[in-house]
Amino acid sequence: MCWAEPHSRRDFSSIVVGGGPGGLGPLLWAAQHGLLESWFDQGIALIERTGRLGGTLGCYGINSDSLGGSYLECLGSAGWPTALHHLRHDPVTLEMQRYQASYPPLPLVNQYMGRVGAAVADMFAGHAASALHLHTTAQSVHLCSDGRVAVVIQGQNDRTKTLVARSAVIALGGRQHWRDEMAAPDLKFVDCAARQLLASNELLTHEGLARANEIIRDAAGRPIVIVGGAHSAYAAAWALLQLPDASSLKDGQIVILQRRPPRIFYPDRAAAIADDYPFEEGDICVRTQRVNRMGGIRGHGRDIWRRIARKPNVAPESRVAVLALQDFSPQQLRKTLEEAALVVPCLGYRSATMPIFDSNGQRLTLKADINGDAVDGDCRLLTADGKPLPNVFGIGLGSGFRPTQAMGCEPNFRGQANSLWMYQNDIGAVIYREIQALADEKQTAAVAA
Ligand SMILES: Cc1cc2nc3c(=O)[nH]c(=O)nc-3n(C[C@H](O)[C@H](O)[C@H](O)COP(=O)(O)OP(=O)(O)OC[C@H]3O[C@@H](n4cnc5c(N)ncnc54)[C@H](O)[C@@H]3O)c2cc1C
Repeated sequence: MCWAEPHSRRDFSSIVVGGGPGGLGPLLWAAQHGLLESWFDQGIALIERTGRLGGTLGCYGINSDSLGGSYLECLGSAGWPTALHHLRHDPVTLEMQRYQASYPPLPLVNQYMGRVGAAVADMFAGHAASALHLHTTAQSVHLCSDGRVAVVIQGQNDRTKTLVARSAVIALGGRQHWRDEMAAPDLKFVDCAARQLLASNELLTHEGLARANEIIRDAAGRPIVIVGGAHSAYAAAWALLQLPDASSLKDGQIVILQRRPPRIFYPDRAAAIADDYPFEEGDICVRTQRVNRMGGIRGHGRDIWRRIARKPNVAPESRVAVLALQDFSPQQLRKTLEEAALVVPCLGYRSATMPIFDSNGQRLTLKADINGDAVDGDCRLLTADGKPLPNVFGIGLGSGFRPTQAMGCEPNFRGQANSLWMYQNDIGAVIYREIQALADEKQTAAVAA
């Protein structure tokens, strides 16, 4: 018996919650391998809170740090379904092609993902076993005693419904966790009385950048302090320097406080050597020979790092000073953060979560709820004690998925993979295969019975 028998209930093979690049990832992997139509025939339910598939990248006023070509690659795959062929000639695709070997603005990437999402949405109509629920929020997930999973959903002005499936994929996007982070022993960032604070996900939006420009205009020499030393921190420094009032910034007025120097992406060893960038064998991706393929800063963040580090053939950037966080005592750090005109925490993302209940109706604490990695190497969601849920998967921003070397990851990389290309390729493949293995188990059991 499965959890609850409310007003309406429907059975599927898999339920995907969240129609952003993460949720679309396994579907786009299947599309590239000629498997999407048959998966639709098995029954997919896709739940998305907004009225469109494609995600939330459009709110950011910066450029992608992935090359345009990485977004377009799927369109040329051998198995790409006929129903999606028209995307190859879509005007937005043609616009994206101008950025094949450069970094497109994120609003354009978002437009493109919206076109891909709309084309996938149209495919639901031709598959009676599948259902698309737009303007619908998934409220909770319930593990059933018969090995299935139920998702309670609510559409606009609608009663709740329960969808049941063999497996579910949770792809709600990310959330920032800087409030829980320690700036120094005994000092949480949230305990500092910053004058103005915009976390990177707020700063990098169109509104956030407009606000930052006003703050810089009125800064009167006070520093702008960026806390963190990875992609978001350098993307934030680049974005701040593009603002109209950035010309008024003095030398060293933007301060990056980082625990360790960032890793930088290079297309090969020769490029890193030519740039006088020190690297180890463990920084080389075994599959592609790229330097820091997975963990290296790319795009405009990399450009500004090169200017700050005074690398060859670029104009040095003296408005940014880079300091080591550990050189500050807790008192000095508090003073620095409280005196700054603006503090920008750039401390990374964790998965957004939703309530998940076991078959006894007990709410589970997920590892993601306590700011840990949401998933294991098979993309299964983990409970706080590290146990994987058998048939609930996670994907998307902040999921904490650790790529393997076989996926083209440099051995020294310890971070998580947050990339649309990875969602549509290696990570999407892991989830698709796990879902199919579960569906096969069900079929075998049915035959045996
Ligand atoms: C500033 C920034 C720049 C980035 N740049 C790049 C880049 O250049 N290249 C790259 O590869 N990656 C980039 N990333 C990383 C990542 O690939 C993107 O953030 C990507 O959009 C993540 O997709 P997602 O599906 O996890 O999240 P989202 O795009 O946020 O999608 C989540 C979806 O879930 C829906 N949802 C949430 N809760 C519910 C619910 N309860 N019920 C139903 N639906 C729900 C939301 O409406 C949304 O549509 C960037 C991230 C950030 C923050």
